[in-house]
Amino acid sequence: MERGRIPTLKSPREIEKMRAAGRVVGRVLAEMRRLVRPGVTTAELDAHAEQMIVEVGGTPLFKGYPHPQGPPWPPFPGVLCTSVNEVIVHGIPNDRPLAEGDIVSIDCGVRLDGYVGDSAVTIPVGRIPPETERLLTHTAEALARAIETCRVGNRLGDVSHAVGSYITPLGYGVVRDYCGHGVGRELHEEPQVPNYGRPNSGRRLRPGLCIALEPMVNLGTHETEVLSDGWTVVTKDRRLSAHFEHSVAVTENGPIILTSSE
Ligand code: MG
Ligand code: MG
Repeated sequence: MERGRIPTLKSPREIEKMRAAGRVVGRVLAEMRRLVRPGVTTAELDAHAEQMIVEVGGTPLFKGYPHPQGPPWPPFPGVLCTSVNEVIVHGIPNDRPLAEGDIVSIDCGVRLDGYVGDSAVTIPVGRIPPETERLLTHTAEALARAIETCRVGNRLGDVSHAVGSYITPLGYGVVRDYCGHGVGRELHEEPQVPNYGRPNSGRRLRPGLCIALEPMVNLGTHETEVLSDGWTVVTKDRRLSAHFEHSVAVTENGPIILTSSE
């Protein structure tokens, strides 16, 4: 991805279309919250999500997504990224049953009628320890704070700073190797949206800017590692990681969450 290219701003009509695509993603993730429990496999979740997306005429965007380094690395095989415990992002759905106390981050991207929605949630499997519960609550709150800064006149650095300045003092590691992004007709558009940064820096937010905000927060250090499958990103220290994401539109009337289920 090239840095610093000017992002395309979306018209109100385009934002409506992104809202429709985002609603499909929101509904899939709501259904995943309902389905996740001990004994369920991520492959089962993946099959269910695919059915839901195809049924409404959407296209799952992760399945077949080319590996950033190209061949011989395989394209992504799943409809969802399912990232369990120490997996940060890009986990591949598999046949291992989820166990009580696990956490699973589910990331879903859909194109509908030419426009894209991208969102993720981290879901507890049964009962989870209080420390894990807090990691999820804090990461979700970081996303909420980032969304709140998506206002005309603020700068991109304010959005990044909202995550970093909240999370870092809590003692977690904010992932630096992966970040949020512009979203629209394509899954990944300009600009990149890091989860750390200086306030009052970077480009100004303008009406029609649509960005996917996605804090990735580790219980330990921020360091990451990619497993030998070429996709699965794990914490280097193998401690837990959480991930929450929404696609958001900047408008004159404040931020619109594009990927809610209603
Ligand atoms: Mg995503
Ligand atoms: Mg994303």
